[in-house]
Amino acid sequence: MSAHKEQITILWFKRDLRIEDQPALCHAAQLGYPILPLYVVEPALWMQSDYSGRQWEFTKECLFDLRAQLGALGMPLVVRTGAVRKVLSELTDTFDIKHLVAHEETGTAWTFQRDLRVQAWCRENTIDFTELPQSGVVRRLYTRDHWARARDRFVDGVRLKPPQALKSIDIDAGHIPDWADISGEPDRCPLRQHGGRGAALSSLDKFWGNGIKTYRWAMSSPVTAPHACSRISPHLAQGVMSIREVAQLSALRSKSFSTPAKKGYASFQSRLAWRDHFIQKLEDQPDLDQVAMHRAYNNLRPREGNEAFLSAWEKGETGLPFLDACMRSLQATGWLNFRMRAMVMSVASYHLWLDWRSAGTRLGRLFTDYEPGIHWSQVQMQSGITGMNSIRIYNPMKQAVEHDPNGAFVRRWCPELRDVPDVFLHEPWKWDDGKNPLGKTYPTRVVDFEASARAARDRIWAVRKDRTNRAETAKVIEKHASRKTPTRKRRATPKKPVDQAQLGFDF
Ligand SMILES: Cc1cc2nc3c(=O)[nH]c(=O)nc-3n(C[C@H](O)[C@H](O)[C@H](O)COP(=O)(O)OP(=O)(O)OC[C@H]3O[C@@H](n4cnc5c(N)ncnc54)[C@H](O)[C@@H]3O)c2cc1C
Repeated sequence: MSAHKEQITILWFKRDLRIEDQPALCHAAQLGYPILPLYVVEPALWMQSDYSGRQWEFTKECLFDLRAQLGALGMPLVVRTGAVRKVLSELTDTFDIKHLVAHEETGTAWTFQRDLRVQAWCRENTIDFTELPQSGVVRRLYTRDHWARARDRFVDGVRLKPPQALKSIDIDAGHIPDWADISGEPDRCPLRQHGGRGAALSSLDKFWGNGIKTYRWAMSSPVTAPHACSRISPHLAQGVMSIREVAQLSALRSKSFSTPAKKGYASFQSRLAWRDHFIQKLEDQPDLDQVAMHRAYNNLRPREGNEAFLSAWEKGETGLPFLDACMRSLQATGWLNFRMRAMVMSVASYHLWLDWRSAGTRLGRLFTDYEPGIHWSQVQMQSGITGMNSIRIYNPMKQAVEHDPNGAFVRRWCPELRDVPDVFLHEPWKWDDGKNPLGKTYPTRVVDFEASARAARDRIWAVRKDRTNRAETAKVIEKHASRKTPTRKRRATPKKPVDQAQLGFDF
């Protein structure tokens, strides 16, 4: 039978939606068979509660763009909807699939299990399945000891050029669905970033031309960060550019930078390294969205948490203006700067004492740039459950004064508070005036944020101080902590290991 079928290699695109520096594409080209570039829209994946319409609409734009780029090489992207094994089985009716090539995806349990099923299917059907790394993340890492050096080697390696042409295969390219075709649940995100290579390059160009000069001081405030940060995160999350390409293009560009921009550039490079560092944690422990790194903290907070608090937090209706403004801005834009992400997670986990899994899931789906490896490692860090990082409980009122001193951000996203005098804006419950909108147009605070932070600190410290947990802490450090600072010149050298550099007390 198979003698009559065309022999092909399937290049399975997942979160590597590019042709530049694309190891899977280059490997597939070397195998000698015509390449069928395939993306499978998996409704079961997109229905997971950490996935969302904003992420799909961004991905969809990347897919249209990738289809055009591959089309220019001779073979446009083929899109099918369904479970991957079913789609592959259907393709075997027409083709003799010799190889399946993909990147090594680091995701949560769902994608991990799916990849295992695809692997088994390939074995059953005697199809060779190759997965290749696309970043400094190492599969089946034995020890973290020399990881940073290996990561640097990868990022400094030669960028791969796409093949000059692809042989065309006679097949219907298929429909790229809208979010409404996948899910009935609308997800309004009017100020979302857009996908595609042009958008990715333009984000970087803007950053190099302007943002990078102020990056170091402007990245912390939600007022200045949207224009000072690179905004490359959703593009990296969908693999529109490789981390190697971003790091190397930035290095080239940095030669013409002024001194402030050079400092910004060094911080930027270290963040790119953090990216791989955090994703490596999920690669090494694929259940990080379900199980605390340090088991003693696993059930510290009730699993069946307070739905009213969770919903108020997610919608930006907690009665804490700065927090609410952050969540509302995230709802509308799909993005928030690092410090504010850390603060909103800290408030959920400490002040509201919510289960980190529930809050982390709701937060993840609000991010257009949802990247499971970074996300769940950060969610755990900001919830104080890794056992190895110092515990940081953000004080949201203090953050508000430091990062929104004239209240412009709060007034933009919480217009109900427009007339509250500056001096009371971040703590409107202190404004004793009949015009106070609390309990009328703006919610009263769901908890006393100072008292609840104190209570949370006592609870978390009780576990931290317990000497019986020390052996487990040592295991977590051995498995997940960064060993030493990278030595490469073109990158900033953090003064402390990555895990500790970001944390401290704010309380
Ligand atoms: C609770 C929490 C959840 C987060 N979830 C995500 C997520 O799902 N996806 C995501 O990309 N980032 C996540 N981050 C990290 C960080 O906030 C974002 O990467 C950053 O805000 C993206 O904006 P940018 O591209 O302009 O960043 P820039 O400051 O311009 O940094 C450039 C790139 O470096 C990487 N990076 C920056 N900061 C970090 C960091 N602290 N840890 C790891 N990598 C970093 C990202 O890939 C980023 O795109 C999370 C942080 C926290 C505290």
